[in-house]
Amino acid sequence: MSFVFTPPATVSVPVMGAKERFPVHRIYCVGRNYEDHAKEMGFTGREPPFFFMKPADAIVAVEDGSTGSMPYPNLTKNLHHEIELVVAIGTGGKNIKAADAYKHIYGYAVGLDMTRRDLQNEMKKQGRPWCIGKAFEHSAPIGPITPVAQAGDVNHAEISLQVGGQDRQRSHVSKLIWNIGETIEHLSSAWELQPGDLIYTGTPEGVAAVVPGDTLVGSIAGLGTLTVKII
Ligand code: MN
Repeated sequence: MSFVFTPPATVSVPVMGAKERFPVHRIYCVGRNYEDHAKEMGFTGREPPFFFMKPADAIVAVEDGSTGSMPYPNLTKNLHHEIELVVAIGTGGKNIKAADAYKHIYGYAVGLDMTRRDLQNEMKKQGRPWCIGKAFEHSAPIGPITPVAQAGDVNHAEISLQVGGQDRQRSHVSKLIWNIGETIEHLSSAWELQPGDLIYTGTPEGVAAVVPGDTLVGSIAGLGTLTVKII
């Protein structure tokens, strides 16, 4: 087969302790999945989960022990960090039940759902799609994927983010409103999951702005750290 121009390379994420990389298909994100973050955004209660997407090439894949770079994006004056547990799907499927969901998971990673909050808020106000606030280039930094067998009990792991050495976000994955299995059940009722899909599971409270020169260090117990500098 030949193409009218060279197709882009497959987007991929390193795998902890392996030479082979995880090829990325789609990036799904869960909105408002920690109660205290829902509250800081002006919402309360356990609403049904909702989803948005980022393009696969929004990934900034950061190797273990390295510092990734994220260029400060255009159009915004309020770029926010959202530290998130990322679930990497290894086996696809649709209408997956929560109890069966774990069989579909390849591994887990630390990710950042970087958000142009001012643009997202304007779109929310007007009832328009969030794409311009969420789905831009370099908006999905991610560290290496830890395969399930080596990841430990991520459902009860501490999740945190520091900026310039100061705590910004600190919580526990156990506080997810919709846990990993429930999220996969809801998501796979709407879309057929494919190997290579990534699910950003939502952020705890403490989201705030970053500026060029800031260094973000995200951690989830058992999954290591993700370090990203805003340039
Ligand atoms: Mn998010």
